[in-house]
Amino acid sequence: MPSRSVDVIVLGAGMVGVSAALALQARGATVTLVDRHGEAGDETSFGNAGLVQSEAVIPYTLPSDPAAIASAALNRDPRAHVRYAAMPASAPALWQYFQFSNSPRVAETAAAMKPLVFGAAEAHRKLADEAGCGDLLRPTGWIKVWRTAKGEEQARRDVEDLKRYGVVADFLDRDGLTALEPHVGAVGRGAAHFPDPLSTPDPQRLARAYAALFVSRGGRFEKGDAMTLEPAAAGWMVTTEAGRVSARNVVIALGPWSNDLARALGLALPFFVKRGYHRHYEPRGNASLNRPVLDLEKGYLVAPMTLGLRLTTGAEFARPDDPPSPAHIDRLEPFAREMFPIGAAKEAAPWLGRRPCLPDMRPIVGPFPGKPGLWLDFGHHHLGLTLGPITGRLLAEMMTGETPFVDPAPFRAERFG
Ligand SMILES: Cc1cc2nc3c(=O)[nH]c(=O)nc-3n(C[C@H](O)[C@H](O)[C@H](O)COP(=O)(O)OP(=O)(O)OC[C@H]3O[C@@H](n4cnc5c(N)ncnc54)[C@H](O)[C@@H]3O)c2cc1C
Repeated sequence: MPSRSVDVIVLGAGMVGVSAALALQARGATVTLVDRHGEAGDETSFGNAGLVQSEAVIPYTLPSDPAAIASAALNRDPRAHVRYAAMPASAPALWQYFQFSNSPRVAETAAAMKPLVFGAAEAHRKLADEAGCGDLLRPTGWIKVWRTAKGEEQARRDVEDLKRYGVVADFLDRDGLTALEPHVGAVGRGAAHFPDPLSTPDPQRLARAYAALFVSRGGRFEKGDAMTLEPAAAGWMVTTEAGRVSARNVVIALGPWSNDLARALGLALPFFVKRGYHRHYEPRGNASLNRPVLDLEKGYLVAPMTLGLRLTTGAEFARPDDPPSPAHIDRLEPFAREMFPIGAAKEAAPWLGRRPCLPDMRPIVGPFPGKPGLWLDFGHHHLGLTLGPITGRLLAEMMTGETPFVDPAPFRAERFG
């Protein structure tokens, strides 16, 4: 079996791994990208809502109000869906997430995330320009529509909190909303509008364009199983369909599967996934949407994509490998039909993805504790499309001994003890 040696192997060719590979390559490293699929962006980086959320400084948290908790736990709140069989296995990590959600650490996470989130759009623009796919990043911004006075109150509170971090947003009444989105139904009474974020009509094509840039610059993409990773004389080795590849440094960027490898290598993390579904719909008649729109009180988003109007759900709390269930999307579809001009569903069954999460809603970017040469770049939760390029930069700066552009301490694995 042929064997080769490179400076770095990056395991996982989603948005996060591809971006890390490019950032390392830009600093002079020879890099091989390994994925079990033959192409980049086949998993979570395919199915997301396509938002480069350059306003998402404040992390998503669990509710603290007992009535809201009860409503979510009993599956009466369509913004989330709980699969009860998953609870015993997920409870310890979710308990940590709940504790984090109701602590001053939310502000700590927001402060740590701010430079990453604010730098995200620029990092994408640079890569997209270099990859010649600038058309895949649209300057659309996005919109959160409310239905009721209570929803409006919540939206105004959220925007006031975000404005404290310098996020730009404005409010739209029904006329302002229909001026931007003429086909939003009458149930949408007003909206918060974030004008700065970008959106992509095709997140998979974006990841693949970045991967093509990596290959055009001399990087290698090999199909193989990351679980073959083993120590080798000069560092680490992975077996791919093309042979054995060894490297002094290896990056684990396997998205929701990262924890499987980290755990096999002895690292115990309070990792969990928030699963989410999508399905595409035909527009009704000549109706359209110009940008992604969130139905705030029902917790799903509809985005205009190349494949159709993509409805994405909020969080399903389930084990990563629990069988998919249409229950969450079935609950949301009637709400979507009153808010959006959607016609027939394009697929028989929804796509299922998994948001890789840590309880403090920060990714892990940095060295694998106690394993020289191993690096971690995962746990990007709701923001992996957004943060892939900028966390790739942070990781590459740490790995090559440059001064990181932000303090990396909040992102180290050691924060979990
Ligand atoms: C419904 C939904 C909507 C979302 N919307 C947004 C959004 O609008 N904006 C945003 O920023 N984020 C969004 N996200 C989150 C975002 O999609 C993820 O955070 C991001 O895709 C994670 O990227 P990744 O590269 O870490 O993981 P992935 O894209 O899942 O990539 C991991 C890669 O590892 C590979 N792999 C796994 N196991 C192995 C193995 N054993 N051997 C080899 N390869 C392996 C997989 O094949 C895959 O290619 C959304 C997520 C969901 C589910």
